[in-house]
Amino acid sequence: MCGIVGYIGRRDAVPVLLEGLRSLEYRGYDSAGLAVIYRNRLQVTKTAGRVQDLRDRVSERTKATVGIGHTRWATHGEPNDINAHPHTDAEGRIAVVHNGIIENAEQLRDALTGRGVKLASDTDTEALAHMIAAEATEGTPLEDAVRRTLRRVDGTYGLVVLDTQNPNELVVARNGSPIVLGIGESEMFVASDVAALVRYTKQVVYLDDAEVATVHAADYTTASLDEREPGGARKTPTTVEAEAGDYELGSFENYMRKEIYEQPEALRRALRGRLDERFATAKLGGIDLDARQLRSIRQVKFLGCGSAYYAGQMGAVLTEELARIPSDAEPASEFRYRNPVVDPDTLYVAVSQSGETLDTLMAVQELRRKGGQVIGAVNVVGSAIGRECGHGVFLHAGPEIAVCSTKALTNMAASFALLALLLGRVRDLSAASGQRIVAGMRALPGQLDEVLAAEEEITEVARRFAGAEHMFFIGRVRGWPVAREGAQKLKEVSYVHAEAYQAAELKHGPLALIDSSMPSVVVVPADDLQSKNISTIEQIKARGGPVIAVTSADLPTGLADAVIRVPRAEPELEPLLLNVPLQLLAYHVAVKLGRDIDKPRNLAKSVTVE
Ligand code: GLU
Repeated sequence: MCGIVGYIGRRDAVPVLLEGLRSLEYRGYDSAGLAVIYRNRLQVTKTAGRVQDLRDRVSERTKATVGIGHTRWATHGEPNDINAHPHTDAEGRIAVVHNGIIENAEQLRDALTGRGVKLASDTDTEALAHMIAAEATEGTPLEDAVRRTLRRVDGTYGLVVLDTQNPNELVVARNGSPIVLGIGESEMFVASDVAALVRYTKQVVYLDDAEVATVHAADYTTASLDEREPGGARKTPTTVEAEAGDYELGSFENYMRKEIYEQPEALRRALRGRLDERFATAKLGGIDLDARQLRSIRQVKFLGCGSAYYAGQMGAVLTEELARIPSDAEPASEFRYRNPVVDPDTLYVAVSQSGETLDTLMAVQELRRKGGQVIGAVNVVGSAIGRECGHGVFLHAGPEIAVCSTKALTNMAASFALLALLLGRVRDLSAASGQRIVAGMRALPGQLDEVLAAEEEITEVARRFAGAEHMFFIGRVRGWPVAREGAQKLKEVSYVHAEAYQAAELKHGPLALIDSSMPSVVVVPADDLQSKNISTIEQIKARGGPVIAVTSADLPTGLADAVIRVPRAEPELEPLLLNVPLQLLAYHVAVKLGRDIDKPRNLAKSVTVE
């Protein structure tokens, strides 16, 4: 789930590994470690601390040209020095770093103990090191030893193996947890995320699930886990878009605020070349469906987890409004476990910033197995979900580092607006209405700039309410997914308990919780439900509940205790604007409470485990 780096070449490996781990820190982790081959022996350094602690511990004198590093997000065994990766076999010949979960770890560990192997850690990963060492007998290529081991392993992994007896190669494998090779000049890099590679090379090879690769300084081969072509095959590298600078903070104090501010530009990128004035529609090059196929879609279902699910909900509302196709969203994690009825006339949209979210990937695989039509909406080219879907919408948000999604979510919602427009225009959305939406979308990035310009006022509101232990987020129809995402953001980054409710549902139960200590954030778009939302605010006020209204409407003065205003947009598109002040609200509450903004506790950026 966390970070992996590997290096083989001519450089001093330790600084490369440490730098790589540093650039993966944003993913959240609890311990770090690295192993290099130094004078034909493994030299392993591990710590339950941060990458900086690891840097302090590594001996200056350790000069090596091959090594592996890891940041761990513990699943098996507490985060301590011993459980940190790399793990080795008893002889100290093989070292392994691993992301993911080995599901049959207990049996594998028992079998090893039964054979008299002494296990040093509580991890699932350590079993792999012993098993690979046992398979790596004289004359067996390391890749074959890894392959044989992995055939006995159930679960998910991205892993890199270092062997003192084969010091000129690294063997890597992936199943459900990303691995990417970085191709340099007489040097190679391995990582779980291109963030660790881009400063060295733009040429990368993404491994697929059930693939292994052997990496030498000047060469690499890739193969399926089951069989190896004689001599080995080699996947062609692709070029990554991202620049090293995209991963740097610049003048911002943290990534979340930086990414909030990148939204107007990210949105411009997402819209570039995709709005067609002439036919008042959207052009989505990644969607491989002609007008007839688009017309035959009878339902649209968005599948995602966390914020991607709420973005999907925004997409569902937009699709129903613009295309008049029944649409809804469901957490991908639930979908895959409930033996879903897969309808061939439904278009499924798998939504994931990283494109690696395991729950969503599994939902996609379930859909494909059942013959469902699925497209991806992902922000990382070459990611598992993008490749599994084969076609879809690329989000163009640029690298998103903070654990809380901001700009990726905005671009998800914008992409779904484009999709809805496209679906609408092959059906009954008139050219005039299409034109109105096209113009409305063009205006959005500039309007986002205006929302951001109000940060100071939002900060003030956040300071006023940061003492609350609980908050409600209330919305209806267009405002409902916005309220849900707002509550999610506050929970994630500030740890303040927040709950979202549909406005009309309040009176059916949760109104009982309203008193002066329970502020409600009410989302009020300037649409035909505005007066209903005003009544909701009045109901809350009548029970002594403080209200923060987030609105594009002109509300009666004195109605709410605090008002955060956004510009008026085309009504269908307003959720894209209304969401942004809620990001800033959550952010400033979290700042006030002294939270770890980019790495909220217990969370990780891309959730590649169940
Ligand atoms: N399951 C492994 C462990 O607990 C790897 C966790 C990770 O992905 O960092 O050590």
